[in-house]
Amino acid sequence: MDNTKKQQGVTRRGFIRTVGIGGVAATALGIPGGAGAQAPAGGQAAAMPKRKLGKTGAEVSILCLGGMFDTVNNQLLLRQALNWGVTYWDTAEGYGNGLSEDGFGRFFTRYPEARKDIFLVTKFRPSPPDKLSEALDKGLKRLQTDYVDVFFTHGISDFNQIAGVRDWAEQMKKAGKFKFFGFSTHANMEDCLLAASKSGWIDSVMFTYNFRLMNTPKMKEAVDACTQAGIGLTSFKTQAGGQVKADSETEFKLVQKFLERGFTDKQAKLKAVWENPHIASICSQMPNLAYLSANVAAARDLKSLAQSDFEALDRFASETRSGYCAGCGRICQAAVGGKVPVNDVMRCLMYYRDYGDRELARGVFAGLPEEVRSRLTGVDYSKAEKACPQGLAIAALMAEASDLLA
Ligand code: SF4
Repeated sequence: MDNTKKQQGVTRRGFIRTVGIGGVAATALGIPGGAGAQAPAGGQAAAMPKRKLGKTGAEVSILCLGGMFDTVNNQLLLRQALNWGVTYWDTAEGYGNGLSEDGFGRFFTRYPEARKDIFLVTKFRPSPPDKLSEALDKGLKRLQTDYVDVFFTHGISDFNQIAGVRDWAEQMKKAGKFKFFGFSTHANMEDCLLAASKSGWIDSVMFTYNFRLMNTPKMKEAVDACTQAGIGLTSFKTQAGGQVKADSETEFKLVQKFLERGFTDKQAKLKAVWENPHIASICSQMPNLAYLSANVAAARDLKSLAQSDFEALDRFASETRSGYCAGCGRICQAAVGGKVPVNDVMRCLMYYRDYGDRELARGVFAGLPEEVRSRLTGVDYSKAEKACPQGLAIAALMAEASDLLA
């Protein structure tokens, strides 16, 4: 590489880091009130759009605060989210082994009047009813509340994983421990959504949905079916970060394109999801005020994406296709005889590479069974690679995961 190109590359990488990753730029949608501003509740909060969460009838802010960060020591951020109208909060027992719930609970202890303003979700992994009851009670205690608005079984990849908890969910609703029940999913999402739409007892679903996935016929069918069934939909993983970093030139083109339009590529990716009126809200990890303020600005901005914006996102998705795992785990798992939950390992790599959160990546990886982790590099992935619709280099990525995450 000659010096000019090298310098250009460095400059561009730096630019992308500064502008693209944090989602904040002087020329992009601004920070509402300035980062750290103390907007009065009911003042700026009124400007945050809300949508109905399906048949639950609840009106939720179109931006949901994902609580997968240190909520205990970020109480100011929680306060600011509320002030800016982000009144839909999401947590899980699995986030920090209960610490995320603890942080929300600390906030509700300090500001008890805030609880009624927050639409609160917590989640627990698929389990038998007695274990779910125990987890729910512990969660409510940590959250310092008598109820949550929605309780999700967390991270299912097959609807049958929750088929046995229908009666339990009804009992818990009657007991007032939660108002609505559903699940979250980042694997085989379309199948899970389609099954939920036929079930007649699921109120709400949180699922991986983004500019890369939203246009496939099956995803469209699944979202339509849930909408018809009145299931309230919240999307997450909307940035569609990959397991392989896009090269800086490809990413630079996207960043530059959207800055010329007045927003960052991160904000554009959120807007692409909000363009679908059937998605009530986007759950986003916002661990600091820069992320929060950039996302709030995008939510409040009424400017729609143009056709050319969607085309730019489509082009980017196509050019970076082999670096993104689409979560269709049933395909690769079947091809490796069920030996490795490839998409779960891919998700850990995404946390490591795209989120830059090594601790989270290693924590989720450590939660996989020991025998799975140890056999990662000893499996023949050739059939899985042939079957993978994204064309991922699965064997190489599993080897990288083994190196980086063990
Ligand atoms: S590795 Fe490929 S087949 Fe497996 S879940 Fe990801 S995209 Fe689907």
